[in-house]
Amino acid sequence: MKTFLLNPYGFCPGVEKAIKIACEQVKVAKNNQKNIYFEHQLVHNEAVDELLSKYGNYKIYNDETLKSDDIFLISAHGHNYFLDDKLGNPQIESAFCSLLQNRFIVIKKAVEKRKKIYYLGEINHPESISTISYIEKKLSYKVQILKDKDDFFSIARNNFLTPTLLIVQSTYKEQIEFNDKNLQIIGACPFVYKRLELIKTMKDFNTYIVVGSKASSNTKSLYNLIKHLYPDSRYYLINSKEEISIKELKEPILICSGTSALKDTIDDIYNFIKDL
Ligand code: SF4
Repeated sequence: MKTFLLNPYGFCPGVEKAIKIACEQVKVAKNNQKNIYFEHQLVHNEAVDELLSKYGNYKIYNDETLKSDDIFLISAHGHNYFLDDKLGNPQIESAFCSLLQNRFIVIKKAVEKRKKIYYLGEINHPESISTISYIEKKLSYKVQILKDKDDFFSIARNNFLTPTLLIVQSTYKEQIEFNDKNLQIIGACPFVYKRLELIKTMKDFNTYIVVGSKASSNTKSLYNLIKHLYPDSRYYLINSKEEISIKELKEPILICSGTSALKDTIDDIYNFIKDL
């Protein structure tokens, strides 16, 4: 079938690095008979969980007090700083994305300047939990949570007379643009944003296949954008070739992916459809 693969595809640099660190640490824990804990899934993709389990076992942290020979791995999205007091004294290893770490430097400066801080994103997403808890626990500063973009624009009508920082979740579905000399914005991750922008130029397909987990926010953003832009086409969100319904495919087909989808899975799906 006439099939195209949208580039870039596969992991973003943050996820790629996090998986490499996590695989190493799971292996170290196994070789040294230590327990290794993650606060939650390393990244939102069950296929990554399977990959990690090939290197050894890991546990999801469940409020226990960890010992000095336990390992606690901070995920690509960071961790909840409110856990620090009850975690115990494990060895801490970090797979925290450097792009998100750099945001923390900007946030700290904004707090030092006593800027008002707003946060826009999925409030239960690990990245949101990490960012908000960093500000509220580590910096002892209050964050105002926005429900959605409209919430932001209703606040923006006040023209930000006081210096303000708006933090947008890195995988948020769109960039927020607003010019005001008192407003500083930390926007969506460029790696996610690039894929969203590219899809807007991919008009002439009858079928769109998004590869990734249904739990991944950037994968869902990509899928929802396709649904919105191309309502007359067919669109699917899948994470393996077994989920493909061959009868429903209509050429030409575009395959794209979220930033936590395995390259091998995408190649597998692409080759399978192309050879039909
Ligand atoms: S999507 Fe962007 S912010 Fe998130 S892990 Fe990847 S590089 Fe980092």
